[in-house]
Amino acid sequence: MTSATMQALVWTAPREMQMQTQDIPTPQPDEVLIRVAYAGICGSELSGYLGHSALRVPPLVMGHEFSGTIAAVGSAVSDDLHEGQAVTVNPLYCTEPSEYQERGLDQLCPSRRLIGAHRPGAYAQYVTVPASTVTVLPDTVSLRTGAMAEPVGCAVRIAELAGDVAGQDCLVIGAGPIGLLAMQTLLLKDAGRVFIADTDGERLAMGGALGGVAIDPKADDVVSHVHDATRQRGVVVAVDAVGLAITRAQCISATMAAGTVIFSGLHEETSTVPAADIIRREIVVRGSFAYSPANFAEAVALLAEDKVRLDPWIVEAPLADGGKWFDRLIDAPGNVSKVLLQPPA
Ligand SMILES: [Zn+2]
Repeated sequence: MTSATMQALVWTAPREMQMQTQDIPTPQPDEVLIRVAYAGICGSELSGYLGHSALRVPPLVMGHEFSGTIAAVGSAVSDDLHEGQAVTVNPLYCTEPSEYQERGLDQLCPSRRLIGAHRPGAYAQYVTVPASTVTVLPDTVSLRTGAMAEPVGCAVRIAELAGDVAGQDCLVIGAGPIGLLAMQTLLLKDAGRVFIADTDGERLAMGGALGGVAIDPKADDVVSHVHDATRQRGVVVAVDAVGLAITRAQCISATMAAGTVIFSGLHEETSTVPAADIIRREIVVRGSFAYSPANFAEAVALLAEDKVRLDPWIVEAPLADGGKWFDRLIDAPGNVSKVLLQPPA
């Protein structure tokens, strides 16, 4: 396989994607070569594509939400992994031990690396990954579903940080993939009602169809709507899956005293928030970043039990059309919850 080549979708400059022929990479002793089946497009990659992410530098093969089959294993890889296995990958890994890793919080390691940012990702027919990042898919999880493990992991983390929400009302602002999945992981923790708000009507409709109580910010003030619906109490947990000053502030205002606001969306680097209100009502504001290894494992288990979904709004598209889908998701996502790119067979 030394001289064999593959097709890869390369991000070459802001708003530029190109299919290129590259050598199929050779796995290092502790690496696995995966033949990619599905690779999802992540919101963080949309900002990367626009050139707004310091983490991503062109030319780059992105793609960190993916599944595939093992095509080759390095000489030092354990027997548990072998050719032909259907797998997904936790794309965040640490290169140096740290106190965070000891606490099971690999996502906070100073040495963390992301496949598809620090090294070539899965928008290609093949990708090499450290063997430690590989999870063999249970028989009940298809390759298509397995590609969802990474975003589901983000939603598992959000629900973990939300604490006890049983019987309590919650709010999620943003009905993109993470908002839609976080709404579902909150409901799986027996949340009462989960209100969901999004300015895009089609995305909002997905939120309603997946079990949320839709609030249309264009027709209705999100905060007053939540207050009216909760007898002026507010929600116990509000999740911002957008990351704008207004959505961050709305989450704080809609949360009850001593409640929790979780910031997940990264749209704006810096925002003004109502700090005095946070103080006077003792609101807990928490960041939620990616997922721990335990969250990722739980995500695979949830998928195996068919407990979370973005269907029927998942679009499968040829890898060669990836650039078009990046543009579409940025300009007018509409009736699409997730785009899964498929490299040529
Ligand atoms: Zn992602």
